[in-house]
Amino acid sequence: MNIFEQHESEVRGYCRSFPTVFASAKGAWMTDANGRRYLDFFSGAGVLNYGHNPDCLKQALLAYLVRDGITHTLDMYSEAKAAFIERFQQTILEPRKLAYKLQFPGPTGTNAVEAALKLARKVTGRETVVSFTNAFHGMSLGALSVTGNGFKRAGAGIPLTHAAFMPFDGYMGSDTDTLDYLESVLQDNGSGTELPAAVILETVQAEGGVNVASVDWLRRLREITQQHGIVLIVDDVQVGCGRTGHFFSFEEAGIVPDIVTLSKSLSGYGLPLALVLIRPDLDQWAPGEHNGTFRGHCPAFVTATAALGYWCGTTLQEAIGQKSLLVQESLEHMLNRHGIDGSVRGRGLIHGVEFTDASLASRISQACFERGLVIETAGIDDQVLKLLPSLTIKEDELAHGLDTIDQGLRSALS
Ligand code: PMP
Repeated sequence: MNIFEQHESEVRGYCRSFPTVFASAKGAWMTDANGRRYLDFFSGAGVLNYGHNPDCLKQALLAYLVRDGITHTLDMYSEAKAAFIERFQQTILEPRKLAYKLQFPGPTGTNAVEAALKLARKVTGRETVVSFTNAFHGMSLGALSVTGNGFKRAGAGIPLTHAAFMPFDGYMGSDTDTLDYLESVLQDNGSGTELPAAVILETVQAEGGVNVASVDWLRRLREITQQHGIVLIVDDVQVGCGRTGHFFSFEEAGIVPDIVTLSKSLSGYGLPLALVLIRPDLDQWAPGEHNGTFRGHCPAFVTATAALGYWCGTTLQEAIGQKSLLVQESLEHMLNRHGIDGSVRGRGLIHGVEFTDASLASRISQACFERGLVIETAGIDDQVLKLLPSLTIKEDELAHGLDTIDQGLRSALS
């Protein structure tokens, strides 16, 4: 029994799929305590979009620490926060003609989701929040209440008074437009139910199995929510910060949500940081109404500001497009070559391969780990192999990882 098994709670999760002790990491590679190297196709579930320890972020952080830059200020003003806000406006919001107020809700994605749900309920005076089948929004009680039932929801018992689930795009097969269903529910006032305060969604459901909402579906959802005065919350915690090929996942659809949540790769360095973007007229928080000790961490602001450098110009975006094609084609060829039933889905650099044989994804993940590739599964039954390499991964590293998946599949089938 190792020190972790002896002392850490049984709640331990990922370490069971990847049973080694990691010690250091650089770029797309992690190294364990025995010096064994692993290519990372997991990226901390979307935290490490720019790879591990990127030099430009490390230099910015080191310089800040060397000059005794302040590390903690609660939500008091700091130079580090000012620099981030300014750069975020200049690099991300202004070029996209987006006007949002910025709220730092606490360190995690869940904190951002909680803030978004609370604000939507406060500004509308309504209670219900609509969420979608297979959604994942976090593990606190509020976030769990809008998270799909298939996820482990231990202790969930005090959810939102009303959380309504609707079928996500494609959930009822390609012949059914799931938004027709939503629209008819909203139009049926005969039951006397109030309109929802908000609709919350991931444009690509990551934990839920890489389910991609189509651009048309997203546009129509924006129209419907607008018509009914329902706050549209896009949870970009996992697929924001460039994962889909745009900084925001909703950009391809050309829609503007009322509230956006970001976290994971926002700091670019694995440091906890979360952000809620709020349509200015919805920013009806009273001072101190959503507080917490770690709202904006100065070292995280420093790396987050440096990380926005990746979004000056189009180099990263173009590279994501090329790599996305490589992944898509390679996975499709792999299924054909092995004569396997399955489907490949994705956008930008998040891809999922869903297998008809539900246990295959976990077997491949395990076989890949044995071959030095860290790759996770997703979906309610872990039936989807989920590829989440860093956006900055080199093409030969990507090809090496894809080749390892092929070997993993071969081994899992034998
Ligand atoms: N929303 C989405 C879409 C997520 O993927 C996650 C984390 N997997 C969360 C919210 C919760 O974020 P955190 O784990 O940082 O609380």
